[in-house]
Amino acid sequence: MKFGTRLLHNGNEIDPVTGAASIPLYQASTFHQEDVDQPGSFDYARSGNPTRHALEETIAQLEGGCRGFAFASGMAAISSTLFLFSSGDHLVVSKDLYGGTFRVLTEVLPRMGIQADFVDTTDLTAVEEAVRPDTRAIYVETPSNPTLKVTDLRGVADIARRHGLTTIVDNTFLTPYFQRPLELGADIVIHSATKFIGGHSDVVSGLVAVKDPAVADRLYGLQNALGAVLGVQDSWLTMRGLKTLAARMEAATTSAGRIAEALSRNPEVKQVYYTGLPDHPGHSLQASQASGHGAVFSFDLGSGKKVREVLSQVRLPIVAVSLGAVESILSYPACMSHAAMPAEERQARGVTDGLLRLSVGLEDPDDLLEDLERAIDGRRLLSVSSEWRASIV
Ligand SMILES: *Cc1c(COP(=O)(O)O)cnc(C)c1O
Repeated sequence: MKFGTRLLHNGNEIDPVTGAASIPLYQASTFHQEDVDQPGSFDYARSGNPTRHALEETIAQLEGGCRGFAFASGMAAISSTLFLFSSGDHLVVSKDLYGGTFRVLTEVLPRMGIQADFVDTTDLTAVEEAVRPDTRAIYVETPSNPTLKVTDLRGVADIARRHGLTTIVDNTFLTPYFQRPLELGADIVIHSATKFIGGHSDVVSGLVAVKDPAVADRLYGLQNALGAVLGVQDSWLTMRGLKTLAARMEAATTSAGRIAEALSRNPEVKQVYYTGLPDHPGHSLQASQASGHGAVFSFDLGSGKKVREVLSQVRLPIVAVSLGAVESILSYPACMSHAAMPAEERQARGVTDGLLRLSVGLEDPDDLLEDLERAIDGRRLLSVSSEWRASIV
């Protein structure tokens, strides 16, 4: 069965008890036991809840894992997974990393004796050179945020296999619709389902899928022990989002490609970072490991002044952190996701004062492009709405 069909027919879409076509909200924290010597499938909702269970089985299926886990946020998923490691362990991690993950790896885990080195994982030689005798895992984000650097997932998994390491991939940007890291050799895949999987800017949610049953047992123990589980309502919303993932990713990615291409021809735009553009350095690698380029791209307007002008002029995208929603979201990394990073370090990574990131939503791409180009070219709204004005005079 094709992926788009499996989103809707994966064995977890119908309530096994009532036949309901939408898994009900089992808003219960505890479950009556008929026989204390033979406990039922569910006993206490931190350990398991039928609504959350349906979502967990679904993400396992979609990523090709043996088991899935739903957490209270992407960061809860990431932190709980990182608790698989112990004092004395070392991790090799992508340098271009989600800020929250960077914070856990630099401010929390070192206190527990877990160390991380941040390397450019697009360079496989650098990855292999960073592996030490105490290294236990390689943790990768691809494409990276916000300049969309692409890491060779098969190459990283190969290095990990040769050194007996676990490969962990944050697959938030592409979702299993476009990229399935477990099929490329990774061991654990993580999502902030707050983004494309939830898809509607209405839920904070995290998912993990695991390939190996022994690792899954350990992660289940951690999920139950640490307790950062996803609530019932949020599990339902995440499942509801997943059902339309294929349609949303297709439409938004088609629009993103069109808009990125048009902006790359705009003389006011210094640079566009999108793996769908043939001149992006990761273009062909991305095409070899993912079936699409996703709906997020970044573009550089040259200065913070120009950025502020554009942000004050755009009408359609909301100006916000986050990505992956039905509405387009325009983010300013220098002041948002990368604000804590020293300016020089930011510049060195291409996160300049002129860089904006656009997560394309489901608006008509003609309208989005017109809105963006009008803001970028400094035209006032009135000058392009003559048609609308004509219609009211
Ligand atoms: C948002 C995000 C996270 C964190 O997820 P939350 O749901 O906000 O906790 C992790 N990784 C990536 C790539 C993200 O975009």
